[in-house]
Amino acid sequence: MNIGLFGGTFDPIHRGHLALAQAAASRYSLRQVLFVPANIPPHKQADPLTAFVHRYAMVSLATQDERGFVPSLLEAPESATNRVGTEGLVRPAKRSSTPNYSIDTVRRLKQSLKKSDRIFFLIGIDAFREIAQWRDARALLAECDFIVASRPGFSLRDVAESLPQELRPPSAVTRPFQKQPAKGDLVLPGVTLHLLEGVQQKASATIIRAAAAQSKPLAKWLDPRVADYIKKQGLYRRGTP
Ligand code: ATP
Repeated sequence: MNIGLFGGTFDPIHRGHLALAQAAASRYSLRQVLFVPANIPPHKQADPLTAFVHRYAMVSLATQDERGFVPSLLEAPESATNRVGTEGLVRPAKRSSTPNYSIDTVRRLKQSLKKSDRIFFLIGIDAFREIAQWRDARALLAECDFIVASRPGFSLRDVAESLPQELRPPSAVTRPFQKQPAKGDLVLPGVTLHLLEGVQQKASATIIRAAAAQSKPLAKWLDPRVADYIKKQGLYRRGTP
C-alpha cells in the first residue's frame, strides 16, 4: 500500500496543504495520507507556535471529508497522548521537549507498517530547498520516496542542487537543466523524487495568521470548519501565539 506522510506546522492547515495532498494522493495512488503536525518543528523553533492541541484539532476538522486523509499523532507531545492513547497504530515521539526530526518519524512509522508498504514523503518545493540542512537528510531520502510539489519558476537544476552535497550531481551535469521546469521524476543513487506540478494554491499560514490578527475574513484560504474553530477559540488574535 502507498502511504503519504505529510508533516508541517499546520498553524493553521489551509487549502494549499489540502491541494498538495489531494494531487499527490490521486497521482501516486496513495491509499492514506497521514497529516503529521509537529509538536516542535526543528526549523521554526524561534517562532511562536499555536499549541499542538489546536493545530491537531484543525487538521482533524480539515481532513474529515477526505477518505484516506488521517490526522496523525506521530509527532505529538507525550502529554497529548497519555490520556487518549494512540489507538494502537503508532507510538508518539518519546520526549516532548526535543524537536521532531522527520528521520525519526519515518522510522517510527515504518515499525507499524508491512514490508510491502511504501512511504511517500510529501513536501512543498520551498521546504525542499532546505532539505540539505535537515537532520540525517541522506538517510531520510534513502528511507522513502519524496513527492515534491513544484511551482513555476523552479527548475530541475534547483531541485537537484537542493540535495545534500554527497547526493548532489556535479554542477556540470545539472547546468543544462537550469531552464527545464521542475517536473517528472528525478532518480539518482539514494534518492527518488517525484515532482508534482499543478498545485497552485496561494494560501500561506503566515498570511492567514496576519489576516486573523486583523479580524479579516479567512474563508478563501481555509476549510470553513477551521475558520470557525479559529474564531471560536480566538486563535491568532494579537498577543495570542
Ligand atoms: P508558514 O507560513 O507558517 O511558514 P506554511 O503555510 O508554509 O506555514 P507549513 O505547515 O509550514 O505551512 O507547511 C507544511 C508543508 O506544506 C511544507 O512542505 C510546505 O512547503 C507545504 N506548503 C505550504 N503552503 C503550501 C501551498 N500553498 N501549496 C503547496 N504546498 C504548501
